[in-house]
Amino acid sequence: MSVPPRILLIGAHPDDAEYHAGGLLTRYRKELDATVKLISMTDGAAGHHERSSEELRELRQEESANAGKVIGAEYLNWNLPDAHLEPSIENRDRVIREMRSFRPDLVLTHRPCDYHPDHRAVGQLTQDASYLVTVPKVLPEVPPLFNDPVILYMADLFTRPSPFRPDLVLDVDGQVDSIIDMLACHRTQVFEWLPYEEGVLDQVPDEEDAKLDWLRQWFIDQVGERANRFRDALVATYGEERGKAVTLCEAYEISEYASRLDDEKRATLWPF
Ligand SMILES: [Zn+2]
Repeated sequence: MSVPPRILLIGAHPDDAEYHAGGLLTRYRKELDATVKLISMTDGAAGHHERSSEELRELRQEESANAGKVIGAEYLNWNLPDAHLEPSIENRDRVIREMRSFRPDLVLTHRPCDYHPDHRAVGQLTQDASYLVTVPKVLPEVPPLFNDPVILYMADLFTRPSPFRPDLVLDVDGQVDSIIDMLACHRTQVFEWLPYEEGVLDQVPDEEDAKLDWLRQWFIDQVGERANRFRDALVATYGEERGKAVTLCEAYEISEYASRLDDEKRATLWPF
């Protein structure tokens, strides 16, 4: 039995992980008993129309921790200011320290091209840190890693300077309950701010079970199209019959700037 892998997700906001990688993280925990850690670099304190930033900062820490508990993972908010994240040396050093102490085999993050400046910053910081974690003279007080981790970018819709490339696709039809349970922990978002932003706040039911059903439909409406977008890759991965039948999938692009996903690593990090 091989040693379970260590998976680190570095996102910009509390709840980014769930939309793009909730199925994969669930599968890592349940099928591989992987150690999974999620980080939101910002505090998410900009994400509301009514609640104060102070209140939101606290609430969103709790929401993240609860979402992590759904799959048995640690989920931390670093509490850097939402919508003001910079790809600074200070922030890069923090990412390097985190990688050196957690020692991930695989890191999931945003691509450095994205509509949101925080996502871009996180992608840049993570990508830059992934090489520097091996350089002893960078932050010499923290022992370097001998190998840099594999980095996978989570799917997005953007095309410039290059469109997202689905190197790896994953059937997550069996993980919908887990994804919804995780998302539902981010109550200030999925039941308040996001429906408000979309002008559908009056459609969110009051009763708890009905709320979850509503969220499930909302999520499927949001990301269901992903399976059609990556249909060719799903068919190539799973064969004609299963590939065409997948309704919910996740997709990842392998960063060329970090460790290669060679056959040996693929056997432990992508046995799906
Ligand atoms: Zn985000």
